[in-house]
Amino acid sequence: MRVSLETRDFAKYPFLKESQQFMLQNHESVDTFLQSSAGKVAIRYAVERVQRALSHAAQAIDTGSSSVPSDNLGVRLEVSSYALARVLVSCGKERALIDRLTRYEAQRAFAFLEADDETKREYVAAQVGFSFEESSLPVTRYVEITAGMKEERWRLVNREVIEGRVKIEPLEAEELLKEQIRVTLLSQLPLDVPWSLCEELAPYVSRIQETFQQKMLEDFGEVDESCFPPCMQAIVSALSGGLNITHSGRFALTAFLHNIGMDSTQIITLYCRAPDFDISKTQYQVEHISGRGGTGTEYTAPSCAAMRTLGLCVSPDASCERVNHPLNYYRSRKKGKSGKPN
Ligand code: SF4
Repeated sequence: MRVSLETRDFAKYPFLKESQQFMLQNHESVDTFLQSSAGKVAIRYAVERVQRALSHAAQAIDTGSSSVPSDNLGVRLEVSSYALARVLVSCGKERALIDRLTRYEAQRAFAFLEADDETKREYVAAQVGFSFEESSLPVTRYVEITAGMKEERWRLVNREVIEGRVKIEPLEAEELLKEQIRVTLLSQLPLDVPWSLCEELAPYVSRIQETFQQKMLEDFGEVDESCFPPCMQAIVSALSGGLNITHSGRFALTAFLHNIGMDSTQIITLYCRAPDFDISKTQYQVEHISGRGGTGTEYTAPSCAAMRTLGLCVSPDASCERVNHPLNYYRSRKKGKSGKPN
């Protein structure tokens, strides 16, 4: 497909190979770039980019002409801030951060695509392996794209499947494209960033992590067990009642407690209720799941769909119908209790 991209398109869709090629024209190493005045501005933009991804402002992306630069320097800063934002979250090694950034980038690119002409839309879609012409997708491909889409209508059992292909309605193609962009960007992260570069960027990574912690506190506030979703309450009750909890149950609860802001000591205290409590084993598991163990990877609690698959979705109540993640259930109940709108 032939399409003519303008320089400002690189700023709109920084993940395109053309955008990367545009950046490579300078033949500069990352180190040299970071020391330059443009590099210093770009790293500031990158931090702001991740901070935007962490804020709810990511829902309202400005696609007006003033929001996208068209001059070479402006576009260069925009594309390099995209690349550096990916480096920063890769150094941060927190899945939730990577997830927020890719969600934001997909949402941002999609907002621009909606305002762009059809040829460009189709071209960008093709670059992430999506075609608007297909009215159905092979099952494996469909499952790959929709694995992170939690609404019931996307579940394979609720779809029309004919000869190994899942039927797609024209209006659904747009939603699938946005998800395909997110899945593609997510599959590229974390980047394998040299340790020395992460060291150099450590102050910026810390700044992002602070914003993230702050956001979590704003979202979740003080831990309130009465707002736990039924699935987590069931695991806590089983724990207190001396019942055997599966490995996946422990993982789901620990990740959930960590995600809502409980520190390791508080989580271990909760596990003390179990009759077979073993402090060193529990400490190891908690540290591992909360990202303080060997790999440095922080885990996010499983979604409702994953909890169902694991057999951990127990006694869902009316509030469960409005959520696709136990964390959303908790957040929504807490906001309800504090009188804030959901
Ligand atoms: S629907 Fe989700 S939040 Fe509700 S019990 Fe099941 S897994 Fe938990």
